[in-house]
Amino acid sequence: MPAPDLSKGVAFVRGQYVPIGEASIPITDWGFLRSDATYDVVTVWDGSFFRLDAHLERFMRSCQRWRLDPGLTPGQITGVLSQCVRLSGLRASYVEMICTRGQPPWGSRDPRLAVNQFYAFAVPYVWLANAQQREAGLHLMISDVQRIPATSVDPSAKNYHWNDLTMGLLGALDAGADSVVLVDSVGNVVEGPGFNVFCVSHGALVTPSEGMLEGVSRRTVIEMARALGLETQLRALPADELRGAEEVFISTSGGGVLPVSRVDKRPVGDGRPGPITQRLVQTYWAWHADPVYSQPIDYSL
Ligand code: PLP
Repeated sequence: MPAPDLSKGVAFVRGQYVPIGEASIPITDWGFLRSDATYDVVTVWDGSFFRLDAHLERFMRSCQRWRLDPGLTPGQITGVLSQCVRLSGLRASYVEMICTRGQPPWGSRDPRLAVNQFYAFAVPYVWLANAQQREAGLHLMISDVQRIPATSVDPSAKNYHWNDLTMGLLGALDAGADSVVLVDSVGNVVEGPGFNVFCVSHGALVTPSEGMLEGVSRRTVIEMARALGLETQLRALPADELRGAEEVFISTSGGGVLPVSRVDKRPVGDGRPGPITQRLVQTYWAWHADPVYSQPIDYSL
């Protein structure tokens, strides 16, 4: 029998490493039936994890928040993620770790009795914007769909409560935009499907401070801004301020800093990625070579 093709990705399920196309979970896992799960995504660039410690720390915190136990230490998770990447041979990869509720014994609906499950996979690097969009900027729409309130589902712990984000995204795509950002109950923008949002307003960098996931890429942008001497404000960001901003970009593990050239069909600035955005894009990729943030994977094991 020919060896399976692992280059499309490798998953870790029930203690086994399998080709991504063969990975499956039981249909009765509450991760599937109830979106009762948490996850995190770390990237591999040029054969090294980027900010793995920050992602592991957030993953463990999310597990704790949702009363989920992955059953593995951060060190053991690192071992599993590394093995997924190593087996795939991928040097640029999107690596996801997941903990699901699992299922309680038959007949019980008590989540405390469920045996939580840990899954992971590595697939080729995922970009939230294609090459043309990275060059020219994304067209973002501000949706009137409200992000699920933080008092209902804590957005700072990663979760699969994405119906609001998906409905907002469908509306934006139908209207000819590339992606969407959602608002809170008083009309401040919060976040989009898989990304945080930033703008340059009156010369300062502004990003929402509440109602969103504290993205690791968001943290990287804040740290880069400090290193570059840019004033940064973490505060409420009204939709109209985003519409009138000098520059707009999003931050995500799916591509880092991605420029936005239109908000609600109106050009941002002169309609091209602005100078601060471009500097942050360059710095983001330059920091990938910094051993403080990058952890090489040994592919020879
Ligand atoms: N907001 C949401 C809802 C997300 O799902 C994500 C990433 O998946 C982000 C923001 C950005 O987080 P990060 O920069 O850690 O990728």
